[in-house]
Amino acid sequence: MLYGLDIGGTKIELRAYDNELREKLKIRSATPTDHFDDFIDAVVNIVELADQSLKCKGSIGIGIPGSESKVDGTVFAPNIPCIDGKAIRQPIETRLSRPIAIDNDANCFALSESLNDQLAHSDHVLGLILGTGFGAGLAIKHKSYSGANQLALELGHTPLSFKAAQTLNCSTRGTPIFQCECGATGCLDRYLSGTGFEDLYRFYFNESKKAPEIIHDYQQKQPNAVAFVERFLDLLSLSLAPFVNAYDPDVIVLGGGLSNFDALYPALNQRLSDLSLKRDRFPQVTKARFGDSSGVRGAAMLAR
Ligand SMILES: [Zn+2]
Repeated sequence: MLYGLDIGGTKIELRAYDNELREKLKIRSATPTDHFDDFIDAVVNIVELADQSLKCKGSIGIGIPGSESKVDGTVFAPNIPCIDGKAIRQPIETRLSRPIAIDNDANCFALSESLNDQLAHSDHVLGLILGTGFGAGLAIKHKSYSGANQLALELGHTPLSFKAAQTLNCSTRGTPIFQCECGATGCLDRYLSGTGFEDLYRFYFNESKKAPEIIHDYQQKQPNAVAFVERFLDLLSLSLAPFVNAYDPDVIVLGGGLSNFDALYPALNQRLSDLSLKRDRFPQVTKARFGDSSGVRGAAMLAR
């Protein structure tokens, strides 16, 4: 049995799959973010619960919102303060008496999406998650690409480009400069995410609205929402175009809450081709096929 664990800033989700990736079990628990020992307990407990339910000892793959150093095993995970800068592999492996695989959650997402019969001939799958944060992963020939220091595709901590900042500038309120949990300001994570979408709306209109409400207003052609979404689409395409040039993917798959906003797809496909270098085949931007379960499915694939 393959266990995929998707560990986020608020919840831990475990899904168990058989070798043909048919889902057999799903369990969720809260992510402890304040105390390291509580975090390790939560991971161990959810796995032991799966073992008991399925009467087996599953293989484990874990997707984290960050990366693990190959040198000293410490993780970079600013969204989960109690493990940021600490090693999690050894205590989990010791307590569960089995090896674990760890990768970035967006890499797990890209890996999962790349294993899809419709993308059988797509060797370079760029996965972008527009969720609580903005994450990215790249699967090359159905393997995730991590780089020399496991930091490849940490695109969320790329600063806004000059052109993107110009697009955000409002004549009466200036340019929004948001603080990121990594310590820097102006990281894409704080703008291209669902959270960023809502924070930007509040910056421009001094009004708090959830993303689905803003999208509903846009569909109703409410002028503020239409102007805001157009500006956001400009921001998104200006920010993603350099990555199209850098990675030259066959396809770009979107996941996370904002990926359910269908207007993104025609707009991005048009704008990205205008903003990126000319190429023989332009990558299509598509919606994740495996939906909310894609990251956890990819984590389980690590366990194979
Ligand atoms: Zn950052």
